[in-house]
Amino acid sequence: MPVVGVPLYLRPRLESPLTSLLDEVPFLHSLVDALGSPLNVLLPERIVENADRFRAVYRDHHLTGRVYYAHKANRSSALVRRLAAADPAGTGVDVASLGELRHALGCGFTPDRIMATGPKDPEFLWLAARVGGTVNIDSCGELEQLADMVTKYDLPRVDVLLRLSAFESPDDSTGVGVRVLSRSSRFGSPVGEVGELLSAVERRRDAVELTGVAYHLDTTALAEKVRALERCVMVMDECRARGLAPRVIDIGGGFGVGYVDDAGQWERYTTALTEAVLGARPPLTWRGHGYGLRNESGTVRGAAALYPAYRPTAGPGYLAELLSMPTPSLGRPPATLLLEHLYDLHVEPGRALVDQCGLSLARVLDVRRTGQGAGEFLVRLGMNAGDVSLEEHGVLVDPILLPRTGGGGESEEDGPVGVHLVGNLCLEADLITRRMVFLPRLPRAGDLLAFANTAGYAMDFHAHHAQRQPVARTVAVVREGDSWRWCLDEEYWPITHPGGHGA
Ligand SMILES: *Cc1c(COP(=O)(O)O)cnc(C)c1O
Repeated sequence: MPVVGVPLYLRPRLESPLTSLLDEVPFLHSLVDALGSPLNVLLPERIVENADRFRAVYRDHHLTGRVYYAHKANRSSALVRRLAAADPAGTGVDVASLGELRHALGCGFTPDRIMATGPKDPEFLWLAARVGGTVNIDSCGELEQLADMVTKYDLPRVDVLLRLSAFESPDDSTGVGVRVLSRSSRFGSPVGEVGELLSAVERRRDAVELTGVAYHLDTTALAEKVRALERCVMVMDECRARGLAPRVIDIGGGFGVGYVDDAGQWERYTTALTEAVLGARPPLTWRGHGYGLRNESGTVRGAAALYPAYRPTAGPGYLAELLSMPTPSLGRPPATLLLEHLYDLHVEPGRALVDQCGLSLARVLDVRRTGQGAGEFLVRLGMNAGDVSLEEHGVLVDPILLPRTGGGGESEEDGPVGVHLVGNLCLEADLITRRMVFLPRLPRAGDLLAFANTAGYAMDFHAHHAQRQPVARTVAVVREGDSWRWCLDEEYWPITHPGGHGA
């Protein structure tokens, strides 16, 4: 058996309907036969379910407010159209570019459900204001620019949130006075300068209406987020003391996704990676890549640049945890603070809202032995590292082997095997994974590998046209009774492809 060491699996976490879709092996093969490799497959019905799960957390805590889908996680039309149709008073969309704003409008979102975030060019700002979307203000300069535009072009008064950053802990009562700054960000205005922003809001009252404050911290650290949330409650008090009447706290996204199913597998893999970096076991990666870890005279240094792929709580569960944690100064959980003040809570999940919403398929083109070491295999796929960018985001999770049916019987190469997955570019660095991936058996040309749960940032975010290799087509699939229907993503409209269960 061509096993390289004991196989170290990182089995993906799979839920319905993704599990049922992966059982449809001939169907998935026929899609790739027709549409080519790579191919992205989306499950629009699941995004609605995910939004409902977030709303269930709101209900549990008696909170009001809106869930905004952070569009940047995926370019798909099907997902956005499905959400627009799902519940007209429900989920909103967070757009971060002129293109995303136009897309959201074209998919049926009304402006009251659209939030414009991130740094904005003038056209984006103008269109958001013109249609009456909410503008999440990134800086004092942007606020002035928007207000000038409203006056100059005779636009309706614009609802704005102020995005804050650089949160610090208040001096603690022990007198030690440790002030932990949240990780620095290119985005938002430092909370320490909020006074200036509020003065600008007051000055430009004819053009903008302050509806609330916001943050988005690119971290999984709950403590940092709970501190930021508490600080936002204090800023809201300051607003009200000045006679402003904001009512929303927007806590951004970053609720995360659990990609790996099993805590033990994750534990074993990360331990083995460290041992391999130290030379205590054979390398687990191409050319000894350490994912940020290195061996300095027998000690591991550096930080693993890995997404915490196994997560006991993620998505809505993470929101529930955040809402229930005691806040550092006021001591009461955020949910209580929000309720007491009758504030709305807005969230902007991207990755978590498209959890389980799709997969990426690639055809196995070639399998060969590497020159180095017996039993090391290179598996070349009909895709490149830009087409499935799990690695780019530090997400380590195994693909699923979907055999081409009717192939040969058992061979001496059956049984678990460690392989390197390489892409279709003429480039040494084009590796789909830099780690050896363990599969239940050696793939054969014509088999498919399915990368599950790629809808969040891993499908089309980094896709490119290098070498004129094809960029993946994207299809939406809908379950109808016992069978599946598919259409190109851009052809998906909720009225013709309603989906849902037993449609
Ligand atoms: C990227 C982004 C999000 C979504 O983040 P996820 O980690 O995908 O949940 C939400 N809000 C803003 C402002 C963002 O930039």
